[in-house]
Amino acid sequence: MNIKKNYSLLNYNSFCVDHSTHYFIEIENKNQIFSFLKDKKYFKIDKLILGGGSNILFTKDFTGVVLFNKIKGITKIKEDENHIYLRVGSGENWDKFVSFCVNNNYYGIENLSLIPGSVGAAPIQNIGAYGVEVKSFIENVNGIFLDDSNEKQFDKNSCLFEYRNSIFKRSLKNKFFITSVDFKLNKKENYNLSYKDFKEIDIDIITLKNLREKIIEIRNSKLPNPSEIGNAGSFFKNPLVKIDTIEKIKMNYDDFIYFKDNGRYKIPAAWLIEKCGWKGYKSNNIGVYEKHALVLVNYGESKGKKIKRLSEKIIEDVNNKFEIKLESEVNII
Ligand SMILES: Cc1cc2nc3c(=O)[nH]c(=O)nc-3n(C[C@H](O)[C@H](O)[C@H](O)COP(=O)(O)OP(=O)(O)OC[C@H]3O[C@@H](n4cnc5c(N)ncnc54)[C@H](O)[C@@H]3O)c2cc1C
Repeated sequence: MNIKKNYSLLNYNSFCVDHSTHYFIEIENKNQIFSFLKDKKYFKIDKLILGGGSNILFTKDFTGVVLFNKIKGITKIKEDENHIYLRVGSGENWDKFVSFCVNNNYYGIENLSLIPGSVGAAPIQNIGAYGVEVKSFIENVNGIFLDDSNEKQFDKNSCLFEYRNSIFKRSLKNKFFITSVDFKLNKKENYNLSYKDFKEIDIDIITLKNLREKIIEIRNSKLPNPSEIGNAGSFFKNPLVKIDTIEKIKMNYDDFIYFKDNGRYKIPAAWLIEKCGWKGYKSNNIGVYEKHALVLVNYGESKGKKIKRLSEKIIEDVNNKFEIKLESEVNII
């Protein structure tokens, strides 16, 4: 196994910060995970599973071993009149998989086009966009426990999916290496057009391909491209609050927006951050994206600490103004 020492992670995180790891190993298949876990040298060392690095902020060098996931492959499990069931290697690129589904007329995940990262990270925070969450198309998540090398299959119910969360982001964080994900996709035409910007879409001429193109166009107009400006997409989760918080804010703001969500209320964190005056902030090579207040950006800073500090200031300001504690969506290391 090729183990690199004191290896820079600059090209492995979309924030483009230059921290390093003591050890770095590329994982291409399950056997490599098993042989790595047998090596006593790494028993007690911290482990970090890394996909595309598009939901991570490194704030210091990592003193353990990074397992960089390159497990590939898309195979058909079974098929019936209405559905196709696919097993996808966790190191496949997420958007390439979406493109594969669109080209083969498999319906379901097209609204999740252009989300950066790997297939294996998709269940971790139950990725979502434009009215769709990936949990609706996942049948099983397969992987290996890093402490005892046992393999396990989690069916969709035992993944405990929630808004930007799952068992893999909570109790199993960095304990379970996801090696593949099983998807169930529709073969019959079926679109989710609940998102507000889709209202002008003509339902009679819609196709999977042009819906994907539309989503790519919207995303490119709103979000910074990580290959040009370092970022990790939404830095914070949209907070879920009770009705009394909503009533309080409503009294003071005519333009207040919120959504009902399973008996609670979701407030766009971008709105709260904007009201605290942070949108477009730029100082010392870091900032808040001018087109989207939820996205913290790196204009050339080499370390992650300043970005973390900026996120803490934003959390404090929002809390002081609205008594709402924002939670970070990005994994801070
Ligand atoms: C421009 C931009 C736009 C974005 N838009 C969206 C969006 O619309 N919706 C959305 O939900 N997210 C969005 N994101 C966030 C990000 O793309 C997703 O969270 C994505 O799933 C992260 O994939 P990754 O492979 O890069 O994960 P990484 O950043 O490599 O890892 C994320 C976490 O998952 C763990 N992990 C990764 N792979 C595995 C594995 N195989 N087994 C176990 N643990 C693992 C890591 O240890 C880490 O804790 C966006 C990010 C960017 C930069």
